[in-house]
Amino acid sequence: PACTLDDFEIVCTIGSGSYGTCKKVRRKKDRKILAWKEMDYGSMTESEKQMLVSEVNLLRELKHPHIVRYHDRIIDRSKTTIYIIMEYCDGGDLASIISRNKKKGTYVDEDFVWKILIQMTSALEECHRRKDGKAVLHRDLKPANVFLDSDNNVKLGDFGLARVLHHETSFARTYVGTPYYMSPELVNNMSYNEKSDVWAMGCMLYELCALHPPFIATNQSELNKKICLGEFKRIPSQYSEHLNALLAKMLRVDVHKRPSIKDVLSEPIVLKKQSSFE
Ligand code: ADP
Ligand code: MG
Repeated sequence: PACTLDDFEIVCTIGSGSYGTCKKVRRKKDRKILAWKEMDYGSMTESEKQMLVSEVNLLRELKHPHIVRYHDRIIDRSKTTIYIIMEYCDGGDLASIISRNKKKGTYVDEDFVWKILIQMTSALEECHRRKDGKAVLHRDLKPANVFLDSDNNVKLGDFGLARVLHHETSFARTYVGTPYYMSPELVNNMSYNEKSDVWAMGCMLYELCALHPPFIATNQSELNKKICLGEFKRIPSQYSEHLNALLAKMLRVDVHKRPSIKDVLSEPIVLKKQSSFE
């Protein structure tokens, strides 16, 4: 039977984003701690609502060790609110790791970067592989959406704004990500595609090493120029050339020369690192 709001008690509010509030909740029957995201669909158009429903249905199918697990959804018609219930992540996120290291004047270990790279890539592969009609694009890859568990394993979260990617068009339009990670094709008003997720992942891993994004500017048009030029400083010298070279590939301006997620996963250095973590 479908669960209802009565099956849960609210522990606290975790925070609010642009599209709703995230709360920590406890499922009464087994006291399991979960998180839910409340979204008011009251002002959505009929087609937006349909999009939301199909998105949530897709999220339910995304089962992967490095993707925040979605459990259920509750719809409260009287409040025009949908509650998306998911795994609760309490190990912090990459944003806090970046700011902590910045404050202390330290850098993260290269092995940690490789582990994040490999686990994120495998999570994105699971999304992009759904070529049977629709792929899920993350669209909002940013350090705050990469959660960690107590063993520093990645849990990619917040597909809350991922849009359904239809096969026949093979792209989805609206860009909703963080401007620093915006890819050159998006700057040029082209469509978000799988390679844009690769670019954003490259930016994020670069930031994890350098503790600042590869392209920085004080205004959007300056940032756009830098992104399209695609020039950035090498990551700090203690990181290997292998890592530097792979990040540089992910940050190729030309979409056709930029690797897909599959290409990244078949890089010899990635295969080697992957087996060293197993
Ligand atoms: P944003 O647009 O800022 O990502 P969200 O609504 O996604 O807003 O998140 C609000 C807060 O809830 C953030 O602090 C985020 O880290 C946290 N959060 C989101 N999902 C989870 C989760 N599954 N477990 C724990 N915290 C979460
Ligand atoms: Mg979020």
